Amino acid sequence: MTTFKDLGVHPEICAPLERKGITTPFAIQEMTLSVALQGTDLIGQARTGSGKTLAFGIPVVQRSVSPKDSDYVDLPQGKPQALIVAPTRELAMQVSAEISLISEDRGLRVLTVYGGAGYEPQIDALESGVDIVVGTPGRLIDLANRKVLDLSHVHALVLDEADEMLDLGFLPDVEKLVTLTPETRQTLLFSATMPGAIVALARSYMRHPMNIRAESSTE
Ligand code: ADP
Ligand code: MG
Repeated sequence: MTTFKDLGVHPEICAPLERKGITTPFAIQEMTLSVALQGTDLIGQARTGSGKTLAFGIPVVQRSVSPKDSDYVDLPQGKPQALIVAPTRELAMQVSAEISLISEDRGLRVLTVYGGAGYEPQIDALESGVDIVVGTPGRLIDLANRKVLDLSHVHALVLDEADEMLDLGFLPDVEKLVTLTPETRQTLLFSATMPGAIVALARSYMRHPMNIRAESSTE
C-alpha cells in the first residue's frame, strides 16, 4: 500500500497527518502528489469528499520555505508565499484548518480571510507577516486594493472548488487575483466538475497543466 512518504511527502507533514489518523492517501492524492510536489501546474478533478484539500495542501505547504529552512532569511519577510482561493467562508475555514494542521511542524503562518468579518484583525495579521493566505475572492481583492495584501511573491496559487466559484459569479474576481500573482507561480486548480468556463480559465492562466481525474468524479 502506498504511503504519503512513498509519494515524497516530508516527514514534518506526515507526522501531523498521522496524529489525525490519516496514513493512506486517497485516490486523487495518490494520483497528484508526486507531480504537484515537483511544482508542475495541475488540474485535479474528483468528487466532493474525495480529499482534494490535501492533494493541493501538501504540495503548497511542502514547497513553502519554512522559518526552519536556512534560505528563509532570503525571502521578502512576511509576504505570502502561497494563496489559496475558495468560494465560501465555510470552505475557506475548512481548507485553512487542514493547511494549519500540516503547517504546524513546519512553523508556517496561515491566515484565513473572508467577507463579513472585521478588517482590522486580518490587516493586523497581514502586517505582522503571513506565509500562506486562504480566502474568498471578494475580501482578498479588497485587501489587495488596500495594499495590505501583497501577492507579488506568491509562488503557489490554488483555485479550489473552481466550479462553485463559477456558480457564485466569482470568475472575474478570480481572474483579477490571478493577474496580481507572478506568472512564474505554480497554479493548481481543483474542482468536482469541469464546466467550459473553468477549462477556459485554466487555458488562459496555467502553463501546460497536467490533467488528473480520479474515478467516480461527478459529471
Ligand atoms: P473535497 O475537497 O474533495 O470535497 P476534502 O479535502 O474536504 O474533500 O476531504 C474530505 C474529508 O476527508 C476531510 O475530512 C479530510 O480530512 C478527509 N481526508 C482527506 N484525505 C484523507 C486520507 N488520505 N485519509 C483519511 N481521511 C482523509
Ligand atoms: Mg474541497
